Order: sequence, then structure tokens, then C-alpha cells
Amino acid sequence: MIDHGFLRELRAVTKERNIALIFDEIQCGLGRTGTLFAYEQVGVEPDMITLAKPLAGGLPMGAVLMTEPIAAAMQYGDHGTTFGGGPFVASVALHVLDRLSDPALLEHVRATGTWLGHELNEIAHRTSRIRQVRGTGFIWGIDVMGTAAHVVSEAMAHGLLVLTAGEYTVRILPPLVATKEELARGLHILEEVL
Ligand SMILES: *Cc1c(COP(=O)(O)O)cnc(C)c1O
Repeated sequence: MIDHGFLRELRAVTKERNIALIFDEIQCGLGRTGTLFAYEQVGVEPDMITLAKPLAGGLPMGAVLMTEPIAAAMQYGDHGTTFGGGPFVASVALHVLDRLSDPALLEHVRATGTWLGHELNEIAHRTSRIRQVRGTGFIWGIDVMGTAAHVVSEAMAHGLLVLTAGEYTVRILPPLVATKEELARGLHILEEVL
């Protein structure tokens, strides 16, 4: 997880030199960390934010959010996109945003995510097959002994879908609606595989 002090320093330096600070929240935004945007937990405000994948619930859509001063510098036609904002996907995205802004859902991700991190650390202690556990909310990476691809394929064979993030990191991104009971089943499979 990126160091918060580093981000604060980056904001100070970019402000001082009049440089735009852009946060890519395509994976960590939209509720994934337990707040609508991940930056809210750092106390550092960017000038621009990129959003995509979950924005329209899987339909193709991306978006760029920006402050007024940045927007004022953009001219019509400066920023084009093929699948940016058709009326159908835009209406789906509005619904998704509405659902993801629900304080109860975000609280679920924060509370259950804290529990998930605790459980992952417990597995790390029990199996000694994990070098490091890092993450927050419903976005976690575990550095494993051996290759992550091997763990991912074994997990899939046992009914659990996880991803790699680089050669040695297994990436865990559960659906935001996943319950503790469902996550516990996944954790059990993960521990067996490890
Ligand atoms: C997928 C992804 C992108 C690219 O998004 P596009 O909508 O395909 O341009 C950029 N950043 C991150 C973190 C991503 O996961």
C-alpha cells in the first residue's frame, strides 16, 4: 500500500510547482477500500481522478474527474473517448454510483475488510507460505512463496477465483457485497491451497 506520507509530500511538491496531481482510482476507487474514493482515507486531494472498470457495473465506460481550474484549461475536443458517455451506460453508472455511495455498503466494506485482513494475517502465521499481507477494505495482496500463478491455478481448481499482481503476489478482490461467511469459505480454500 502506498505510503500516506509520500502522497502528502507529493501533493505539497506538486502544489508548490503548479503540477497537476492525478490519482488513478480505477481499481482502488468506487468503494473498494471502504470509502467512495481511496484518496479520502489519505487526506490528500488530487487535481484529477480516473475511473473505469466498475463504473457502469461492467459495461464499457471510463471517466475523468477534475477540479475547476483543470477543466477551465480544457477545450472542446481535447479529450475524446469511444465509449465514454452514451446515455445508456451513463444511466447505469448513475445507478452504480448511487449504490456504491450507500454508507451501509461502505461501512460493510470497512468493517469486513478489517476482519479479512486479520484473517489473512492469521493464515500467514499458520502456513508460513506467505511473506507479506497488505491492503485495506476489499483489496488485498499477499506475497507468496513460489509463484502467484501456481496459487491462482490451484485456487481455481478448488473453486476460488483470485488473480495475480506480478510474479509473487496473489491479488484478492472480493465482490463488495460478499459476506463474512462467503469470505470465510474462500479463505479456507486459500489456506488449503497454500
Ligand atoms: C484497467 C486499468 C486502467 C485502464 O483502464 P481503461 O479504461 O482500459 O483505459 C488503468 N489503470 C488501472 C489501475 C487499471 O486497472
